[in-house]
Amino acid sequence: QQEIAPQSRNDERRVLSHLSVLEGAPPLSENWSLFDSNDALFTEARQAQAATVIFALSSNSQVESVARQIHALRRQRGSAMKIIVRESQGSVRATDERLLLGCGANIVIPWNAPLSRCLTLIESVQGQTFSRQVPQEIAILLESMQPLRLRGYQPWETFCDSVGALMNNTLLPKDGKGVLVALRPVPGIRIEQALTLCRPPRAGDIVTLGENRLVLFLSFCRIPDLDTALKHIFPLPVADIFSNRMVWYEDAQIAAEIVQMRAMQPEKWSKPLKMTADVAPVASQRHDDNARRRVPTLITLLSEPEGEPR
Ligand code: C2E
Ligand code: C2E
Repeated sequence: QQEIAPQSRNDERRVLSHLSVLEGAPPLSENWSLFDSNDALFTEARQAQAATVIFALSSNSQVESVARQIHALRRQRGSAMKIIVRESQGSVRATDERLLLGCGANIVIPWNAPLSRCLTLIESVQGQTFSRQVPQEIAILLESMQPLRLRGYQPWETFCDSVGALMNNTLLPKDGKGVLVALRPVPGIRIEQALTLCRPPRAGDIVTLGENRLVLFLSFCRIPDLDTALKHIFPLPVADIFSNRMVWYEDAQIAAEIVQMRAMQPEKWSKPLKMTADVAPVASQRHDDNARRRVPTLITLLSEPEGEPR
């Protein structure tokens, strides 16, 4: 095991922390220094070597800037520094946590961990040496958070190409790229009509139609969260619209299903009703610094337009 030079561990016991981490409590010892912003904390940490540095994450819009600061510290200051992120409000996406860890954080402390547990977790990383590889360019990590720049209905071929390419993307976690679901409507509902009820709000969630099935790919969704995601996507209970569901969530299963889908004759593809096709397919929302979560808007269910063949 490699010994780290003694002078580089001088500040090992120092704790540089955002003020909010201690929830109003005074510094726990003379080793603690508190800062009222992540920027001030980052500036001080740039001189540190083996100290513990604790960022606060109070909204999802801060993820990218904190990620950049962590990446810079880890690349420039090395593996002895203990970098921690304390979530202070509501849950952030699992993909955000993965980004922070990928940039070099030792640990992300969830918002619902009480202060006492938070202190235990801070203690748990003492003496640790960071051993994961951090890419030189953060752009690689940011890009892998949203590899699919599409949303909503896609023609069959575009859908197969997009999901196929995603399965071959080695920057994305193995068996954690998302869930593929095929849904067959209940008798009396055509798939084109079912599609008018399918409104994926999240960029990266795409859908296509063929062989009397509606096929959805939900980016980064994990299998236990499938029902939660479907509730966000359909305004009615899914069991009222669809009688049968097939699900694939491991890379190999998804890739095999995409091979089957590609082999399907074009006559079996279906086109959406005109009104659904008019909805812009490309996701326009970006995660910028002023982003706030919006309140969901009401959805009006579409009836069959006049003149559409039954
Ligand atoms: P949640 O709303 O209970 O969703 C739990 C998990 O279900 C999400 O974990 C995600 O894996 C999946 N999921 C839910 N809705 C969708 C969807 O429309 N598309 C896809 N592909 N997956 C979906 P995740 O991403 O780790 O997020 C954790 C929690 O963070 C969410 O719990 C929610 O409370 C919050 N959150 C994340 N992103 C947003 C957002 O854009 N807006 C809002 N309002 N909350 C969000
Ligand atoms: P987006 O990813 O395209 O998501 C658009 C909308 O889908 C969100 O609007 C929210 O209404 C809904 N949504 C997506 N995922 C979830 C989820 O897991 N749970 C719930 N309950 N709703 C979900 P919103 O909240 O106004 O966000 C607008 C945009 O801001 C998002 O577009 C995304 O680009 C960014 N954003 C919001 N929250 C997060 C987050 O926690 N992490 C990241 N990385 N981006 C976020």
